[in-house]
Amino acid sequence: MTNAAAAFSSLDPHPLPPAYGQLASALREANLLRSTGAVLTWDQETMAPPRGIEHRSRQLALLARLQHERTTDPRVGDWLGELEADRGFIESGSMEAANVREARRDYLRETRLPVEHVSEFAEVVSNAQQAWIGARRDSDFPAFEPWLTNIVALTRDRAALLGTPEGGEPWDALADAFEPGCTAAHVTAIFTPLRARLVAFIAEIAGASRRPSDEFNDHELPLETQQLFVRHVIARLGFDLSRGRLDTSTHPFCGSTHCHDVRLTTRYDLRCVNDALGSSIHEAGHGMYEQGLPEREIGLPSGTAVSLGIHESQSRMWENQVGRSRGFWQWCTTAMRSHFAPSCDRFSVDELYGAANVVKPGLIRVDADEATYNLHVMVRFELERRLVSGALSVGELPGEWNRLIKEHLGVTVPNDRLGCLQDVHWSMGAFGYFPTYTLGTLYAAQFHEAARREIPGLEDGYSRGEFEPLLRWLNAGIHAHGRRYSSAELCQRVTGATLSAEPFMAHLEGKLRPLYGL
Ligand code: ZN
Repeated sequence: MTNAAAAFSSLDPHPLPPAYGQLASALREANLLRSTGAVLTWDQETMAPPRGIEHRSRQLALLARLQHERTTDPRVGDWLGELEADRGFIESGSMEAANVREARRDYLRETRLPVEHVSEFAEVVSNAQQAWIGARRDSDFPAFEPWLTNIVALTRDRAALLGTPEGGEPWDALADAFEPGCTAAHVTAIFTPLRARLVAFIAEIAGASRRPSDEFNDHELPLETQQLFVRHVIARLGFDLSRGRLDTSTHPFCGSTHCHDVRLTTRYDLRCVNDALGSSIHEAGHGMYEQGLPEREIGLPSGTAVSLGIHESQSRMWENQVGRSRGFWQWCTTAMRSHFAPSCDRFSVDELYGAANVVKPGLIRVDADEATYNLHVMVRFELERRLVSGALSVGELPGEWNRLIKEHLGVTVPNDRLGCLQDVHWSMGAFGYFPTYTLGTLYAAQFHEAARREIPGLEDGYSRGEFEPLLRWLNAGIHAHGRRYSSAELCQRVTGATLSAEPFMAHLEGKLRPLYGL
């Protein structure tokens, strides 16, 4: 592209004001710092020797500080003000105008937090995570309680600094960082009826006379072949391994450094290939979103994912709507038999499909099946909302956790390691995060329902290993826009409706009723 062409938006004849170029290069530079940190974090989780962690923490802290300095530079505020004063530009409806709107959002958020608060928060959560690791290992909540008390106090300060949106509550200010515009009232309006339906449906499943066989989920397969097989599957789904990697870590994740450098991790269980398969497909779903972001917009809001909920919609769709579908298992059974020959020959398509869809209420969120998973999320949402408002004290947390898990899932929590100490989120100060898992699950079902309407023979294609039509549809409808549209606008554009739990319940019941003979 020539310089003259670069001065104009490709979509709009309105010339770009000079401040736009200055703003864009500052944002791109801050993103270079962020993405350098992402590579170091990936390295820490996959490769770094244990004694290198302390030095790595200092490297990451420096990068975080430099990035904060870039993004809160008063000149950024000046450029934004100048651009916002140009009404013709702002009202052009262009991608660049959307970038200014989103950059303002980020700038307001970053500058509302004084640097003293940011560094105190960072130091407390860094130490708290170490305390949490020990407390979880020993199932010793009292050892973690003072740390969590401190984090809740700082989190309440943070909510006050960010400011409660009008008519809202402090939790909303925290959730906004992960899911812009998300409020506790909106989440409650979706969760309350969904919870009642899920609890009733899971009870029905528990009483069913027929159950899919669980045998394949305890079937030993060599780890080296599992690794080859899982790579084969995610490549076939559309994750581009020439622009990404798959490695091993304790907790699977997707690290984003650039659309041409997307790092996935997974974990392997000798006795259950479905563990690695499900988590790899999930992370590859996140990865295909990152790979689908427009290259020329990287570093700007238009080259960034919308929110955690929309990110999670991509991972859940590939994991659940695709990876747990009968069509997928028709294709995958053949792939599995040829990779593991002859060890999988005796399992039929129906047995493998059934094993991927067993419903079993349990204690651990990350091990939960598709039906019970959201109840784990709802318990955490209710508890963190009360912790942030002050209605629940940290000392009361274990008892309330155990009571709500029993009430929702019917299982008894034997200790805090398998209870309120299981997740890392609160030790990181990430309050307002959990609901994005369920919002993402609901978006996934609603997006996939729209894809089925618009792509003829979509699911028949899965049985032949044809997944490209879905990826192309997601690339064009969701990935290509970056943050141009909010979650709510995107949902409306892609599906023609606001977010609803109906497509998710239709997906779940449509699949599980026949499997359980209901
Ligand atoms: Zn995820």
